[in-house]
Amino acid sequence: MEDFDLFIIGAGSGGVRAARVAGQRGLRVGVAEDAALGGTCVNLGCIPKKLYSFAAHYGESFEEAHGYGWSTSEPTLDWATLKSRRAMEITRLNGVYASLLEGAGVTMLRGRATVVGPNEVEVLGQRHRARHIVVATGGRPVWPKVPGAELAITSDEVFDLPQFPRRLVIVGGGYIACEFASIFNGLGAEVTQLYRGDQVLRGFDDDIRNFVAVEMVKKGVSIRTRHEAIALARNGDAIDVELNGGGVLQADAVLYAMGREPNTRGLGLDDVGVKLAPNGAVLVDDCFTTSVPSVHAIGDVIDRVQLTPVALAEAMVLVDHLFGEGERFVDYVNIPTAVFTHPSIGTVGFSEHDARARFASVRIYKSEFRPLRHTLSGSSERTLMKLVVDAASDRVVGLHMVGADAGETVQGFAVAMKAGATKAVFDATIGIHPTAAEEFVTMR
Ligand code: FAD
Ligand code: NDP
Repeated sequence: MEDFDLFIIGAGSGGVRAARVAGQRGLRVGVAEDAALGGTCVNLGCIPKKLYSFAAHYGESFEEAHGYGWSTSEPTLDWATLKSRRAMEITRLNGVYASLLEGAGVTMLRGRATVVGPNEVEVLGQRHRARHIVVATGGRPVWPKVPGAELAITSDEVFDLPQFPRRLVIVGGGYIACEFASIFNGLGAEVTQLYRGDQVLRGFDDDIRNFVAVEMVKKGVSIRTRHEAIALARNGDAIDVELNGGGVLQADAVLYAMGREPNTRGLGLDDVGVKLAPNGAVLVDDCFTTSVPSVHAIGDVIDRVQLTPVALAEAMVLVDHLFGEGERFVDYVNIPTAVFTHPSIGTVGFSEHDARARFASVRIYKSEFRPLRHTLSGSSERTLMKLVVDAASDRVVGLHMVGADAGETVQGFAVAMKAGATKAVFDATIGIHPTAAEEFVTMR
């Protein structure tokens, strides 16, 4: 007889959702977690990142308020206050997660788990048998392999830097590098972002990449493309960052954001026959089952799409699959996503480049404008909105935006695209005036 119907390793986005859904169905569920409840998203990702992004926006809001007649004294940021206020909120959320799991009747084991058999895990020296084991252990930042790498930090360390970094060098051109470049620039740091390629945010629509880079630079971020940091060295209180083309930058902190690798080291998966990809990701089928039928995996550890809502969707499909609500699959098409740069990006569907490769003929609609808010604020920030339409079917196959609250705007349009909306349907939709979002239904 097993101790559990389902044993989940990792109480992050995917693990907690699977545990709650299974627990609410009356199943015997165990979860092991060796760090704070909620995983990356709650503790070191989405939530603290967005709180810091809000904090960073206030800097420019104080200035912009003058254009509306407000007078303010010189604003200053107290880094210690921001950190402690963030920590309090995260602690509150950890408590909410604990109550949710408790409410669903889930048994929590606070320690590191290893898989010791196809139906057996070990936590804190004790073995537990389970009908099914779910690996939901997430990922961790890739560490740089340059001389002086021990002087670097990753997104795991950046939230709690003891001193505010007056000069911050960021290496990378993806989500984390771009978001933290905007955040620390907005908080008042002098930010230099080094990216090895020609333009940041590879994979996003080219117009969006170019546009957001211009806007970030206008706000003060120094983006140096075709640049790499080849060595770090201590120089008094500062760090010298040696650049590939020659030259040295001085920084108070150097943040590497070069992607994340799956957390499978030391888990025991190899020993029980679970097949892994060369980068350590757990290989699963469409129902999230590994090469061992009783072992499953979801979320960042399978390295498909590293986003919280995707981990949640995978968790729900897995529980349905294992405990009987019929066959459902996660649809990885048209996953909307936002990059919380300043201004932010919201995007769903094909980039123009990918649509041209996929469809015989595409129509492109673009609108670039100064948002109403900035007619008085004095800010030169601009907004870009873009639709990509498959000419043959008239379906909108790509929708992209750079502008304030782009994620909020794009979430609703993602529903329309999931429902197969055509450009004619967009055109027949009445706008909400005056908003930026109405541009998506008025572009001709
Ligand atoms: P995780 O949330 O990482 O959870 C894994 C858990 O497993 C962790 O708590 C870990 O401690 C635990 N664990 C690992 N090994 C063991 C073990 N052996 N025993 C016990 N416990 C173990 N996504 C978005 O959608 N929007 C965003 O805005 C966003 N911002 C992000 C910002 C940053 C800086 C980062 C790093 C990520 C961000 N993400 C964002 C991505 C998002 O955080 C992840 O996709 C999501 O957390 C993945 O969930 P998960 O359940 O797979 O793993
Ligand atoms: P990304 O995959 O987004 O970006 C990695 C960046 O590092 C790329 O610019 C890549 O360059 C660069 N890079 C990779 N290897 C090297 C190297 N050896 N030397 C120099 N540069 C290198 O990863 P992130 O770390 O930014 O974020 C991890 C994931 O977390 C994201 O992919 C996303 O799924 C998730 N996330 C989501 C957020 C959101 O939803 N808003 C926010 C933050 C994270 P190149 O393009 O040339 O390969």
